Amino acid sequence: MASTPAWTLTQIGSRSWNFAWPIGFYNTVFTVTDDGVIALDPLNREAAAAYRAAIAQVTDQPIRFVVYSHDHLDHITGADVLAPGVPIVAHKDVPGLLLHRGFRDIPLPTILVDGTRTIELGGEQWELQYLGPNHGRTNLAVLNRKERWVALIDVVSSGLVPYRELPLSDWPGFIYALDRLAAMPVDTIMDGHCPPSPIAWAGKYRRYLDDLLAATIVAREQADEATILAELPPGADGIQMTEAMFVKTAKLAVEQLRPVYGSWGAFEAWAPQNVNRALIYLITGE
Ligand SMILES: [Zn+2]
Repeated sequence: MASTPAWTLTQIGSRSWNFAWPIGFYNTVFTVTDDGVIALDPLNREAAAAYRAAIAQVTDQPIRFVVYSHDHLDHITGADVLAPGVPIVAHKDVPGLLLHRGFRDIPLPTILVDGTRTIELGGEQWELQYLGPNHGRTNLAVLNRKERWVALIDVVSSGLVPYRELPLSDWPGFIYALDRLAAMPVDTIMDGHCPPSPIAWAGKYRRYLDDLLAATIVAREQADEATILAELPPGADGIQMTEAMFVKTAKLAVEQLRPVYGSWGAFEAWAPQNVNRALIYLITGE
């Protein structure tokens, strides 16, 4: 039988820890209070068992609340392994989305957040804020004012360009969330996949998205359909033209971004896909 992967705990406040699971580079966070533990995402069934053991290394207090960051299965599977029967907190639309998609083995949240809600337990507070759609439609920011950190999952991958085509993202909502994050009274931001990082990364991401969109607009003008058609063999069809336009726009935009952002992780792999996402936004408005 394979051994348990080497997870790590990083203390991020006097009573809070980041739990990092190495398979897929997943992170979640918990706070120990005088009356029990508040725990964010269980991740998956194997990680949840390790997460439970990690919490038990820090405290013998029971888990009293589990919070789902958002409705994506790769972050919220295994609450029944992490803390069976414990109340689960999530955005109000999470139960409906899970049932709509047919995922009936995910324990449903019973404490539903519409706007802002604060969990108070044993002298500690988690302020849950819905910032609107950004990554997905149900992402809750967890703000710990006392320890000056915020967790917002799958939004700011510190040190990396955004993941692939910013899947399931709302472009203006993403920008709005970054501005809200940057204005929060915190020092540290937690993401679902990157280590705890300085909150300055929210502003860096905002500038990156602005520059990404600007570069894509310039590249799109340079790779307009007439230019692309002239470069293709005679008789090329609309599909060939569309695909050539996407490839050339990505190439030209990435060349503009590289001097500033080329040192960011995943730049060569994901920046072209980021351009594809920006192009879809320009084409569709969404
Ligand atoms: Zn997600």
